[in-house]
Amino acid sequence: MRYCTYSEHMQRKHGEKVYKIPINIPVSCPNRDGTLSDGGCIFCGEKGAGFENLSNTMSIQEQLEKNILYIRKKYKAYKYVAYFQNYSNTYLPIEKLEEYAEAASLDNVVELSFSTRPDCISDAYLEKLASIATKLNKEVSIELGLQTVNYHTLNKINRGHTLAEFIDAVIRIKKFKFEVCAHVILNLPWDDQEDVIETAKILTALSVEQVKLHALYIEKNTKMCELYQQGKIEIISLEAYVNRVILFLQYLSPNTIIQRVAGRAPEEDTVFCNWNTSWWKIKDRIEEKMEQCDTLQGEKCDYLNGKALNVFEKTDIEKTDKR
Ligand code: SF4
Repeated sequence: MRYCTYSEHMQRKHGEKVYKIPINIPVSCPNRDGTLSDGGCIFCGEKGAGFENLSNTMSIQEQLEKNILYIRKKYKAYKYVAYFQNYSNTYLPIEKLEEYAEAASLDNVVELSFSTRPDCISDAYLEKLASIATKLNKEVSIELGLQTVNYHTLNKINRGHTLAEFIDAVIRIKKFKFEVCAHVILNLPWDDQEDVIETAKILTALSVEQVKLHALYIEKNTKMCELYQQGKIEIISLEAYVNRVILFLQYLSPNTIIQRVAGRAPEEDTVFCNWNTSWWKIKDRIEEKMEQCDTLQGEKCDYLNGKALNVFEKTDIEKTDKR
């Protein structure tokens, strides 16, 4: 592969296929419940990110068992990541999270993954999370919504946090050695290719281990939908998105794991989603184009660790050669 895929990474790490199973718990988000705002991010719909989730009225064990039954049969996978997906899964008392984590700790669950916002992470919370991980003998990872490093765009999409909170959360999480996955949207209407490059550079500089990309979809009954229908925002073409993903991968560290290169959402809930094509066709297109251009993830990742000093090193080498 021309980039590091999550499936290959998990296969290598665990010696077999590992699947993520979404878990839906009754939790909200400070950007929706009135704490920061009650509108939420302008692209966030009623269901948050939980299109594929089972109802949170089902117990965690029931959700896991039902999904595992399906995944085991369809994909022949026998190990799983319990993925607390929807809204902000650390926006609740840690004792409650501990209860949920315990319920999700089935024998064949190798990792507990919590999706959240950068401003829902603190040292005290992480400390307790570390003791939960030790007690349950499970790996823990944290998925952080960032979307873009362009703080003007973060303002426009009403994220309720800027880049600083993301950087702070990553630095704190790293002290506890949990892996971080950043969620990024590469085609937000106000962003251009420079934002794409800068996003890759900042994630690399912070040694974020994993990235999850998705193309912006426009959900019905959102502020983003209103702007789209009023013609106030435009979505770049599929070809331009493919180019942005490749550009992002080129500038990203060659070691960062890519969980996905496009997301998905049900047609009935959206007015625009993935240029009316399936996410896997977008993935195929990206891979084909990388092949055609003979390019690799990390190909342009040469900007850290005092790049400007390379000129002296070169001169030194030249001098040694002449001696
Ligand atoms: S942080 Fe996540 S759950 Fe909260 S409003 Fe934004 S997209 Fe929705």
